[in-house]
Amino acid sequence: MKIQNYIAGTLRDPLRGQWLDNINPATAEVYSHVPASQAADVAQAVEAAKAAFAGWAAMPAQKRADILLKIAYLIDRDFDALALAVSTDQGKPVKLAKAVDIPRASANMRFFATAAIHFASESHAMEGAINYTLRTPVGVVGCISPWNLPLYLFTWKIAPALAIGCTVVAKPSELTPRTAYLFSKLCMEAGLPAGVLNIVHGRGAEAGHAIIEHPEVAAISFTGGTATGKHIASVAAPMFKKLSLELGGKNPNIVFADCDFEQAVKTSVTASFSNQGEICLCGSRILVERSVYEKFVAAFVERTRQLVVGDPLAETTHVGALVSEGHMKKVLGYIALAQQEGGNVLTGGQQVTVPGRCAQGFFVEPTVIVGLDQQCRTNQEEIFGPVVTIMPFDREEEAVVFANSTAYGLAATVWTENLSKAHRVAAALKSGIVWVNCWLLRDLRTPFGGVKQSGVGREGGWEALRFFTEAKNVCVKW
Ligand code: NDP
Repeated sequence: MKIQNYIAGTLRDPLRGQWLDNINPATAEVYSHVPASQAADVAQAVEAAKAAFAGWAAMPAQKRADILLKIAYLIDRDFDALALAVSTDQGKPVKLAKAVDIPRASANMRFFATAAIHFASESHAMEGAINYTLRTPVGVVGCISPWNLPLYLFTWKIAPALAIGCTVVAKPSELTPRTAYLFSKLCMEAGLPAGVLNIVHGRGAEAGHAIIEHPEVAAISFTGGTATGKHIASVAAPMFKKLSLELGGKNPNIVFADCDFEQAVKTSVTASFSNQGEICLCGSRILVERSVYEKFVAAFVERTRQLVVGDPLAETTHVGALVSEGHMKKVLGYIALAQQEGGNVLTGGQQVTVPGRCAQGFFVEPTVIVGLDQQCRTNQEEIFGPVVTIMPFDREEEAVVFANSTAYGLAATVWTENLSKAHRVAAALKSGIVWVNCWLLRDLRTPFGGVKQSGVGREGGWEALRFFTEAKNVCVKW
């Protein structure tokens, strides 16, 4: 099976004819080939996006929305095929893809299609004059997305860009290209004008780099690792491109003694191991008030042991395969490091061999580690796998200091039934997102993003639509 680029409304092989293997992480088998696109492919995509821009930007928002809504409808129609594709590419349970990835991809398209119809800009009346703000689409934009939620995060970026009138050159992760390829076929079926969306597959260092350094790409929306984000900023910032960077996290999950204990344990297990822990929002550092620490650890470990690691296609599977062999080795390396740092692995810690067709796959047991201090590397660096640490704290202020002690600041969770404490702690946390007594409850209108090394800028709602526009103030004196 060959995946192709989508450029100027057509599916194309890469110009140099070079391909990469696409591996199913549950079986370790090569199951398709991905274009190893280069700068020349990106240049063609940017040309197509440039040529399409004037027509797309001038199209009434309602008409643009109609096309994007048609794509959403086609995602729903092909629900099962897309869920299977994302599971095969990424290793996640197909059940999770059906519950989260595909419904959310179609919701992203619907949400931004209709949001753009309601989008309005500001006016400021002053003595003797009125100011109004014109917002126009910035032009050709680059959207670069990671492998963990391939179609979900891909649509989260391209939908607001397209809805507001930008044209797009997008690069999905080379590890998980299949759903973006299927998506390009849906765009053709929906009648998206040629060149409005272009999808170039390939390595980050080649195809990705060519997008960020292309002088005609006016804005970059990137989701991925912090090191890649730093590199992208170093290339794009001197060219004065608009930048939105959604980066890594090391998210604290704070459990106070006065919480709804059952709910806290249950949701914390989900927040730790969903999607094999490969969600930027997973809570990887659990901080528990000392008076309930032992009880929490026992209940958490018991629940973790009930999670079934297995074939992503089986209905009974909770935890699927990690995305690649390299990533699995990285995660296992962190578990070894945690032990060197004095950590005690209470459950998990090993690679799993799943019998049958998945015998060669990249599976790791959900792993719970205690006994580590806050400053060790295991507690400071993003692991991005099914690994959590649990640490006790004595006072609220101490929990906040621990929570804020990493270079990251993406998401945090707080468990308490005390309303004042919930507000106080939420305000004190250095984090772009705080969930109180829940996790991953998402309203697409809310600002989404991180502070410190978790990123720059916000996605979601009006923030995303504004990012893809330039604001111009017009002052009229009467
Ligand atoms: P990477 O940073 O490795 O890659 C992200 C994307 O950038 C991929 O498409 C990659 O291509 C591309 N890329 C890599 N190098 C370059 C480059 N030099 N120039 C341009 N593009 C490049 O992240 P991962 O895919 O490994 O994703 C995991 C990371 O993403 C984690 O750190 C996670 O926390 C973060 N993340 C953050 C989220 C947020 O909202 N804050 C949400 C989800 C994930 P390729 O893969 O083909 O090399």
